[in-house]
Amino acid sequence: MRLVLVGPPGAGKGTQAQFIASNLSIPKISTGDIFRANVSGGTELGKLAKEYMDRGDLVPDEVTIAMVRDRLSESDAQDGFLLDGFPRNVPQAEILKKMLEEFGVALDIVLELVVDDEEVVRRLAGRRTCSQCGRIWHVDFDDKKDDVCDACGGRLYQRDDDKEETIRHRLEVYQEQTAPLVSFYAQERILVGVDATGPVEEVTQRAMEALSPYTD
Ligand code: ADP
Ligand code: ADP
Repeated sequence: MRLVLVGPPGAGKGTQAQFIASNLSIPKISTGDIFRANVSGGTELGKLAKEYMDRGDLVPDEVTIAMVRDRLSESDAQDGFLLDGFPRNVPQAEILKKMLEEFGVALDIVLELVVDDEEVVRRLAGRRTCSQCGRIWHVDFDDKKDDVCDACGGRLYQRDDDKEETIRHRLEVYQEQTAPLVSFYAQERILVGVDATGPVEEVTQRAMEALSPYTD
């Protein structure tokens, strides 16, 4: 299964990606996670990406696309993958299509996680991420009073770009650059919308139902 998750920041892409990828035994490829790993590792790519990420802007396409091409060429991605956070604009989507054609494959489905702006802001403002295993939590919805990951015991942190002003800018960037992907993939006839409100497990269930025609 070759699958893409789209939706605004805070829709729950990362949260759902971890469960869907594990259910389908395919690698989860999150461009945001790869950029953050490079930032904390102090690599050249990390130094370049950081200034864009801190502002809430997109990292330039050529850098992002080269990174995704490398990742999709790895052996674990040959039989399927779940992309979270890529593509994020129509040029990236067009290049992804060509790249997959070169590899002799194509996307099976694009899942759009649908949730309103108010809920998105609430979700982002309370987001915490585990510095050790990367698992995503929410201070209210998961009732996280301490800063400790229940999955691995690691320390939870708040992302630099989850500050109110940056959140607002990222939502504008989503509307301007990423939302047009919805009609792009609708035209390609591979878009399926999923209601992303309600408990995490219910959203996962809806997503798995939407994917069931494509699984063996
Ligand atoms: P969220 O899940 O909150 O939308 P991500 O973790 O996917 O955030 O991305 C964090 C940041 O990483 C983005 O604001 C952007 O700066 C950068 N980034 C991630 N994916 C891409 C991409 N496909 N193209 C350009 N920049 C990206
Ligand atoms: P995205 O990757 O789309 O930016 P995340 O998966 O990081 O979104 O989720 C953003 C925040 O919302 C996290 O704190 C996460 O725990 C929380 N969250 C995700 N899905 C739900 C849900 N169904 N109900 C409540 N909170 C959720």
